[in-house]
Amino acid sequence: MVTAERIERPIALDDVNPFAAGVRGDVITPHDDRYDSARAVYNAMIDKYPALIVQCADVADVIHGVRFAAERQLPIAVRGGGHNAAGSGTCDSGVVLDLGRMNEVNVDPEKRRVRVGGGATWGDVNHATQVFGLAVPSGIISTTGVGGLTLGGGFGYISRAHGLTIDNLVSADMVLADGSFVTVSASEHPDLFWAIRGGGGNFGVVTSFEFVAHPAGMVTAGVLFYELDKAEALMKLYREFIRTAPRELGLFFGYVMTPPAPFIPEELQMKNLAKIVLCHNGPEQEANRVIAPFLAMEPVLNLVGPMPYDTWNSLFDGLFPAGRQDYWKADYSHDLSDDQIAVHLEHGPRMPNPSCAMHIYSVNGAVQDVGPDETAYSYRDVTFAHVILVTEDDPAKMPGHIDFVRSYWNGLHRDSAGGAYVNFLMEEGSDRVQATYRDNYPRLQRTKKEYDPDNLFRINQNIQPAS
Ligand SMILES: Cc1cc2nc3c(=O)[nH]c(=O)nc-3n(C[C@H](O)[C@H](O)[C@H](O)COP(=O)(O)OP(=O)(O)OC[C@H]3O[C@@H](n4cnc5c(N)ncnc54)[C@H](O)[C@@H]3O)c2cc1C
Repeated sequence: MVTAERIERPIALDDVNPFAAGVRGDVITPHDDRYDSARAVYNAMIDKYPALIVQCADVADVIHGVRFAAERQLPIAVRGGGHNAAGSGTCDSGVVLDLGRMNEVNVDPEKRRVRVGGGATWGDVNHATQVFGLAVPSGIISTTGVGGLTLGGGFGYISRAHGLTIDNLVSADMVLADGSFVTVSASEHPDLFWAIRGGGGNFGVVTSFEFVAHPAGMVTAGVLFYELDKAEALMKLYREFIRTAPRELGLFFGYVMTPPAPFIPEELQMKNLAKIVLCHNGPEQEANRVIAPFLAMEPVLNLVGPMPYDTWNSLFDGLFPAGRQDYWKADYSHDLSDDQIAVHLEHGPRMPNPSCAMHIYSVNGAVQDVGPDETAYSYRDVTFAHVILVTEDDPAKMPGHIDFVRSYWNGLHRDSAGGAYVNFLMEEGSDRVQATYRDNYPRLQRTKKEYDPDNLFRINQNIQPAS
C-alpha cells in the first residue's frame, strides 16, 4: 500500500486500538477510508502522510493524544482551521491532533467576553458574536482558524481600533507537552501567556481561548477599484493617509484580477486593477467623510456600503476555497518607499487569476499601543505588512506563479524591516523565524525549553529550545 510505505514509523494497530478505545472523537489510521480526506489541509501543495490522525472531541482527547505521541517520541501537528499556507496542520509520520470538532463559542454579552474552542473558525465566532453586535479582532476572511491566527498575532479590519487578536486575549486553556492542563493569563503562567501571544503553536495545544469583544454591528465596508494608471498616486496617498487615519477605519491597498462575479460589470471582469479594501466601524456618514480622499481619486467601481460585520468578514471566503495550490511570500516594512512603489508598479498589475493578490496591510493604530517586548509578537513598530499570494487549481502552473511571487518579493525585500508576519511564512528556515521574533527570540527559546524541552511541538515556525 503506497500510503503505508510513505510512513517512516507506522504505528501497529495493536498499539492504536487501546488508545482509540479511550478517545471520544475519531482515530484515523492510514488503513482507514477517511485517511486521505482527513490528512488534507487547506493548501493542496502540502501532501503529508501522518502515522495517526486524532479528530479530538474534547480536552481529554487532546491529553490522550499528546501523551500517546510523547511516549512514542512522535512529532505532533496541531490543526486548528488547517489554513496555514506552510501546512503545519499536518505532518509526515507523526500524530495529527485535529481540533476541528472543538469549535464551541460562548458569548457573555454583558462582560463582552467570548470563550472559543481551540478548533473554531472565525466564522464560528462571528456567528455567535454578531447577534450581540460584537466582534473579536480577526483576519479578513472567516474560514481561517482561530487557533493559528491568534497564536501568530492576528490582524484584520478592526485591529487599528482594537489591536491584534492577541491583544484581546484574556486567557487560554492549554495541554502541555507533558500532558498537563493549565490555564494561562496575565496572572497564571504569565511567561507562557507572553509566549503564546505571537509564538505560534510551539508551547502546547490551546483547547480554548477567552477574548474581549468590541461593539461592531453594522459597518461601512467594501472595495474601491481603480484603473492601473492611478496605482502610483493611490499608494502615495495611502502611505501618508494611514499614518493619521482614524482608528475606526481599517484599510489596505492591493492589486487584484477582478472575478467574473455578478456584482462586477462585465467590462471590468477578469481585469487587473488596483484596489482599496476598507471597513469603517462607525456611523456611515462619518465613514464617507473619512474615505473622501479615496473617493476623490475616482474609482472605476465603488462597492462600499453598510453591512453587518459578519457579512463583510465572510464576503471574500469564496475567492479562497480550500484545496487549491497556495504559495505566499511576505514582509513587514516601516515605510512604503518610492523604490517599493516602483516594484509594485512593475509586478502588481500581473496577478494571474482572481484568487491571487498582493496586499499592503496597515498594522498601526492600536497595534502600536503595545510594546515590542510585551508579547512575543515583536514587530509593533512597523506600519505595513506586505503579502503576495498565488492560489491555483492547476499544479502545472505553480512553478511559473512561484517565480512571479519570488521576483516580486525580492524587489520589495530590499526595503523591508527584515522579518515577516509569522502566519504568512511558508517553510523558510530558522533564520527567517528568528528574523520574525527579533529580540524576543532568546526569551521564546527559554520558555520553549521550560515547557517543551524535547520539541514535541515542532511542526510549526519552530522555536528551538534554549541549549
Ligand atoms: C485566505 C487566507 C487569508 C488570511 N488572512 C489573514 C488575515 O487577514 N489576518 C491574519 O492575521 N492572518 C491571515 N491569514 C493567515 C492565518 O492567520 C494563518 O494561515 C493561520 O495559521 C491559520 O490558522 P489555522 O488555525 O487555520 O491554521 P492551522 O494550519 O490549523 O494551524 C496553523 C499553526 O497554528 C497551530 N495551531 C492552530 N490551532 C492551534 C491550537 N488550538 N493550539 C495550538 N496550536 C495551534 C498549528 O499547529 C500550526 O502550527 C490568512 C490565511 C489565509 C489562507
